[in-house]
Amino acid sequence: MSELSNTYPTDALQALDASHHLHPFTDHGSLRQEGSRVIVKGDGVWLTDSDGKRIMDGMAGLWNVQIGHGRTEIADAVAAQMRELSYYNTFFKTTHPPVIALSEMIAKLAPDPYNQMFYVSSGSEANDTVLRLVRYFWDIKGKPNKKTIITRWNAYHGSTVAGTSLGGMKAMHAQGDLPIPGIHHIDQPYWFDEGGDMSPDEFGIAAARKLEEAIDRIGEDKIAAFMAEPIQGAGGVIIPPETYWPEVKRILADRDILLIADEVISGFGRLGEWFGSTVYNIEPDLIAVAKGMTSGYLPMGGVLVHDRVADVLEHTGSEFFHGYTYSGHPACAAAAIANLQIMQDEGVVEHVRDVAAPGFAKMFASLADHPLVGEARTKGLLGAIELVPNKDSRDRFANYGDVGTICRDISFQHGLVMRAVRDSMILSPPLVITPDELEWMGATVGKVLDETGAELKRRNLW
Ligand code: PMP
Repeated sequence: MSELSNTYPTDALQALDASHHLHPFTDHGSLRQEGSRVIVKGDGVWLTDSDGKRIMDGMAGLWNVQIGHGRTEIADAVAAQMRELSYYNTFFKTTHPPVIALSEMIAKLAPDPYNQMFYVSSGSEANDTVLRLVRYFWDIKGKPNKKTIITRWNAYHGSTVAGTSLGGMKAMHAQGDLPIPGIHHIDQPYWFDEGGDMSPDEFGIAAARKLEEAIDRIGEDKIAAFMAEPIQGAGGVIIPPETYWPEVKRILADRDILLIADEVISGFGRLGEWFGSTVYNIEPDLIAVAKGMTSGYLPMGGVLVHDRVADVLEHTGSEFFHGYTYSGHPACAAAAIANLQIMQDEGVVEHVRDVAAPGFAKMFASLADHPLVGEARTKGLLGAIELVPNKDSRDRFANYGDVGTICRDISFQHGLVMRAVRDSMILSPPLVITPDELEWMGATVGKVLDETGAELKRRNLW
């Protein structure tokens, strides 16, 4: 592949890509016109494209490249494992050393009573597993009517049939007649767009009480679980008001309903703790993980199971008919071990907590004064900038979403990957980002906002 990138010019690579490659989440008509951006190399927080242009990966790939790109230790660990045992499964009472070592490592990193992992290859598979696992759990407990899972509108839980159904993206539901039955969506805690006249704290309580209302309406005896991301990522880095999670916990405290944290983004350090559940004191029954577990070097995910659920699953006398060919793949496990070892040896989570996240928050605070910015919020190394026409109100631009796309394109021209979720600009850099790199990022975002403003004026949009 690197041979291809050295010998073919960018337009030839784009033409070849267009001939044979259907991309995820892509309008292929417009992609074919514009041509794909071809990335050929990664090094720390930087990417290089096929024209030799350096671009800062402000999104850590897809929120997953915790330790940055190009760490050869991981390549070496994977190669060594592949020479020893490239593949064997974990079905039929079988296991292997890398998956044993990884499971112990994760149990030690996780908060105290999470000691068991079920392995998958992606966040979507993790959430498919969650859906089947919680329904199986209630069957074992003799409560087979407890099948409904409550989730939130605008949540993202993956792209498989269960993942899309659990998620709350209406445009995704519209394709493929989803959601499947037994999933109930409630409002999200998105104060900036939906808070109305309430203060963030009042709104946090009100949003959490949507859960209570849904439980009371549907009936506790029919509800299996409530599932949520600690902070909604793909929905637009929606950081819930501080009152939200405590109220959710109060609501669930005396109800027989499982709580599931989708930590596919917040797991493995992004919020300055190993798990986002610790940051918000969520104490879920199941935690879905993926992404940062391997820093994206190979695909792997899992469901981390609280002892109180594991105890039930381990004493059923029956079999959970669920699993994947690649559950606990040895090479992926070796990549995860090497990644987590680097994170521990180099104090990556402490770096987020003590250095990178405070620097990131300071940078966002300085951007908040910009005339285009209605709110600039961060938690850990997740950040969102709300672009609005009038910073004194939370009203949106006409054609909600267009301004974000304009801003994102300008950001690419300046060598910074920012993601646009409608008119929210998202940053989620590798956890190893240094103060100097943060300074460059902040200066670049400032320029990008200025140019976005000028471009909107040129187009009579502002
Ligand atoms: N859950 C969350 C919170 C996610 O952000 C994602 C991916 N963005 C997923 C699940 C799905 O993960 P994957 O793309 O690995 O299937």
